[in-house]
Amino acid sequence: MKYGRIITKEKLKYYEVAPEVFAAISPNRGLSWANAGFVNKGKGLVYDTFFDLPHARELRSFCEEQSGHAPQYVVNSHYNCDHTWGNQLFGDSVVIMHKNAAAEHVTEVPEYFQAIIEKKENLTLGEKYIQGEFKGFDLTGIKWHDPDMLIEANTTIMLGDMEVRIINVAPSHSDSDLLLWLPKEKVIFVGDVVFGGAIAYSAEGMKLWSKALDFIIDELKPETVVPGHGAICGVEGVQECKDYFAKVMSEFEKNYDDGLDALEIAKKCDISDFMHLLEPYRLFINILALTNDRRGLPTPPDWNYFAEEMMKLKAFQDQKYGERPWDPMSSWIE
Ligand SMILES: [Zn+2]
Repeated sequence: MKYGRIITKEKLKYYEVAPEVFAAISPNRGLSWANAGFVNKGKGLVYDTFFDLPHARELRSFCEEQSGHAPQYVVNSHYNCDHTWGNQLFGDSVVIMHKNAAAEHVTEVPEYFQAIIEKKENLTLGEKYIQGEFKGFDLTGIKWHDPDMLIEANTTIMLGDMEVRIINVAPSHSDSDLLLWLPKEKVIFVGDVVFGGAIAYSAEGMKLWSKALDFIIDELKPETVVPGHGAICGVEGVQECKDYFAKVMSEFEKNYDDGLDALEIAKKCDISDFMHLLEPYRLFINILALTNDRRGLPTPPDWNYFAEEMMKLKAFQDQKYGERPWDPMSSWIE
């Protein structure tokens, strides 16, 4: 990958992926270690604001350092807290979200996660996992910041002479996914519509998500893809995400059994081609969603339960494939 400037700060590394277009990349340490973007053209635009205020503060300072002012616009890739909870530090910007984000976000409560982070005794397996993932975040002071604009239709913003398109691909990862596409530069910021370690919450969602990936590959044809988590990639990263879901769906069909629970089905699924992805035991959640759908049951986002079962799948995978080391700084490669 060819970059312009590469600027490393304490928490984030900023890669200039096109002139005055920056990808703000986190070390990929697990859940909520997200990426963002800053387009320093016209009045300025930020795409996503991270999980906690220290990360958002660093991003805002970077914007001010580069442009001399706060960005005029903030666009959120979707409602999830690891992409939106820094919004309150951009109170002087116009915050734009998909119209469904306003209802979707209520399932995520800062105090709930903060209580798990601070818990010291009688930790469940799930809570231990979440504590490990969130080490390095500080969730104090977070309040949901209401967006200024809710959109559904594709929308173009001119930043000086640069055209920036916001494209609605919801529902795919969530019900509120918005891509940021720079057609002339062939750069796309995709939020969690593309990342290694992807999680879908329904069978229908998985199919629609695959269609969104087809649209990116076949119609937009980007040269640079900035995923919601992990390293900057090209269209091959989008293809891999698509291949992963295709494999999950076909393995589920092959191994589904009315008498088995989701964990037992997940253990039978062969995803050996995807063991290099972050936390391959996230497979549990995808298989749970497919299993529940088959049985007419909902899949509420119960992270404590997800984490418990993922840890059981991890133990199984470690034994079957050997323990895989993970380098969080691999997302900082140049
Ligand atoms: Zn995310």
